[in-house]
Amino acid sequence: MKENLSSAENLLNDVFNNKKHRIDEGQFYADSLGVMLTEKCNIRCRHCMFSSDSNNGASFEWDTLAGLINEIYESGCVKKVRFTGGEPFLEIEKLYRGITLCNELGLKTTAGTNAYWAYSEKNAIRMLSPISNLTELHISTDSFHQEFVPVENVKNAILACHQLKIKCLVRIAYLHDPVSEIGAIEEQLKDVQELYQINHQPVLPSGRATTQIDRELIYAYNIENVLCGGLGRLLVTPDGRVFACCGPAVCWKGDHHLCHGNIRHERLDVILQWAERDPVMRMLRRWGHIRLLELIQRQATIENHVLIMPSISEMTGICSLCEYIFTDANATWLLKRVVQDMEDSTPDTSMEQVVDYLRCTGGFAPALQEVARRQLAVKAAGERGLAVSEKEPQLVFDAWRKYEEYLEDSLLIFKFKQALASEAKLEKIFTDPQCREAAIELLYADWLAGAVK
Ligand code: SF4
Repeated sequence: MKENLSSAENLLNDVFNNKKHRIDEGQFYADSLGVMLTEKCNIRCRHCMFSSDSNNGASFEWDTLAGLINEIYESGCVKKVRFTGGEPFLEIEKLYRGITLCNELGLKTTAGTNAYWAYSEKNAIRMLSPISNLTELHISTDSFHQEFVPVENVKNAILACHQLKIKCLVRIAYLHDPVSEIGAIEEQLKDVQELYQINHQPVLPSGRATTQIDRELIYAYNIENVLCGGLGRLLVTPDGRVFACCGPAVCWKGDHHLCHGNIRHERLDVILQWAERDPVMRMLRRWGHIRLLELIQRQATIENHVLIMPSISEMTGICSLCEYIFTDANATWLLKRVVQDMEDSTPDTSMEQVVDYLRCTGGFAPALQEVARRQLAVKAAGERGLAVSEKEPQLVFDAWRKYEEYLEDSLLIFKFKQALASEAKLEKIFTDPQCREAAIELLYADWLAGAVK
């Protein structure tokens, strides 16, 4: 109990003193950061969302890259650096030096490649030996990559990884028939099937795919209940911009909300703190794009604003909706108004004033106790395997949207009370709902009294 009270006190003090938010381990939403070593690629896949090729594109200079890796380390919240491209093996010296520096700083690393360099197993080992401390190699292969790089290269790279004890992931992009498209690659790699894992994703209608792939062939899914899985995969491009994901947002023209800043103008930890705390990003991660869209629509109604929206059912995937929300001038303007509205609805009272008031009126200690009690109950609920689903808080989101964590805890405590009730087989004893409710509260109070002791 003492421990709970002191952690509750710390929590309240943090909030009341408006302490700078720390983004160390466990507090930041993403644990890895992608570094696009170069935009260039030696091949020209039809589905490439970055439209990479061998002619155009920038690369990181070593000094900037080294500075970035050091800032990643200093941020304390990112534990893994993903070297991507383009084709990062075209910048082999910087790749080697970058992985070595990460290794010295205790950061995990992954490197993506099309394995063009693995034309023999011997050469694959030669290329990977200087970076045998790489945590994972990600090899892209599918019908598009295989127009340029034979699957034999992929096998050689997998075998080299096995020899050097580097974890290996094969990444497959598919069109409208994922089962057979992924199955075909598995069949090609059956000789080495024990030595790699698979990761797959649909081709996105972005970049070169928009002109070179028939839209009808692109895999489409219902986006109603989809939360974007790419939001934890931040990416830094060679010009220093930091994006919320490594997906199509990187290619959208102009300024937009998913470009969080530029490491050439500000420190990485400042950008990451912004990404962690920004209300739009928090809502997006927690509630998803559809909920954001509903808020935009509601704001449009409130303000009598005519909103011309694309049809959700015609969108192939969540990235299409994301692009609409963050690049359509009307939608982004309304989204800003939603956030403004939320901020305006909070009275302009400083936390110090609240604390002073509570201390003077004797309300501070009971508040601490109540927080500690809630923490105790939440912990006990978690230990019983109870959880709050993503959907449940959404049902009451409108009333509580500024107090997400409080709401989650309250739901969990509600479930916990129900669990206590069902364990006590109350329904057999009480048929009157009011008596039952009172008994539940008594049971809960009784449990708390025991727990607090
Ligand atoms: S939905 Fe948006 S944030 Fe997620 S991967 Fe697509 S573009 Fe990036």
